[in-house]
Amino acid sequence: MTARSPKDLSSIKGTQDILPKIVWKWQKAEETAKKIFELYGYKEIRTPVFEATELFEKGTGETSDIVIKEMYTFTDKAGRSLTLRPEYTPSVVRSIVENRLYLRPELMRYYFIGPMFRYDKPQKGRYRQFHQADIEVFGEKDPEVDAEIVEMARTLLSKLGIQDIDILVNSVGCQKCRPSYHKKLKQAAKTHREHLCEDCQRKINTNPLRIFDCKKDECRSAAAEFPKITEFLCPECKNHFDRFCELLDFYRIPYQVEPKLVRGLDYYTKTTFEVISSKLGAQDAILGGGRYDDMMKDFGGPDICGIGFAMGMERLVSVMPDKKDSEKFLYIVHMGEKSKKVALELAKYFRDNGVECVLEYKERKLRKQMSRADKLNAAWSLVVGEEEIKKKKYQLKDMKTGNQIEVTKQEALKRMTS
Ligand SMILES: [Zn+2]
Ligand SMILES: [Zn+2]
Repeated sequence: MTARSPKDLSSIKGTQDILPKIVWKWQKAEETAKKIFELYGYKEIRTPVFEATELFEKGTGETSDIVIKEMYTFTDKAGRSLTLRPEYTPSVVRSIVENRLYLRPELMRYYFIGPMFRYDKPQKGRYRQFHQADIEVFGEKDPEVDAEIVEMARTLLSKLGIQDIDILVNSVGCQKCRPSYHKKLKQAAKTHREHLCEDCQRKINTNPLRIFDCKKDECRSAAAEFPKITEFLCPECKNHFDRFCELLDFYRIPYQVEPKLVRGLDYYTKTTFEVISSKLGAQDAILGGGRYDDMMKDFGGPDICGIGFAMGMERLVSVMPDKKDSEKFLYIVHMGEKSKKVALELAKYFRDNGVECVLEYKERKLRKQMSRADKLNAAWSLVVGEEEIKKKKYQLKDMKTGNQIEVTKQEALKRMTS
């Protein structure tokens, strides 16, 4: 093996290795997310990484940027068009319909953590293989659940030590009230046509709501002049949104109503929300979601409403504090063949009892091993010499304080686990 990998074997543009030095943050984020989700009654669901391309065309929406520009689509040996999932919700909805999960008595609350794929232009903080933690709730019409998932998201972020967040909320209406808003929006967009980018000019006719997703300055300032959807909500959508906001107040969650928050997907109805961090760029949310009350029906399933959010793990990890819970492991020092055997037995004993433990396989001088323990940042060292083996008592050293005591293995375990 040469130190440098040949160019053609290096990693693919837009992908990254998550190295051991940083992986603790990922593990902490994933473990904390699972724990919090399960406290709120969510169960994990795992679906395949690739699906039929039509699933995303239909589920994500043919006019969305994801479907138009960003899908990782390929043809398999049988000539089928397949796509690496660019988002999670269509897969979950497909799975529920296909497995008829809606016929079961349990709550339809699901979570998922895993990779997604978008053929986006790779740039800072954006990858072609990225990771999300998602939650989805089905069959709950009440705005109580909208507020509860925002509250759950906030709890999760605070458990991970993430501060300086802002919560943005909006309602994008429903099939009843959106068409009249669309009309008004189209008119407004037409009068601003010359101020919009080429992409957005095309959106005027296909889906004017998407203009709000454009990140270009000229389009953002034009969009600021557009009518606000919150002024066009039907009574049902308005009541839902008002109640949602009241419940956020009940949970003492600070939020801002952001009428331009339409999210980049076609399927949202009523509530949408995003959590942004001042540590990220203003346009990059840590998590975002909303309600999609018509999706299940559109997939040929029953008329069951849904709501959920997706959290970007790369972004989450980038705003997590760097302070790591201290590593606590034992380094066993041995001298000679017999001592090594005892050391191996002791290592097994401590590992079986939940203490992380390492030792060298190569013979080294005592002094060398002690300095290794120090360099590796071990919390304790345990010396197993001939005298110690006879007495079945070993020298346990607290590497931080330098304090050393003679203990049996049971006593050592007690000290290290208390
Ligand atoms: Zn409505
Ligand atoms: Zn634009």
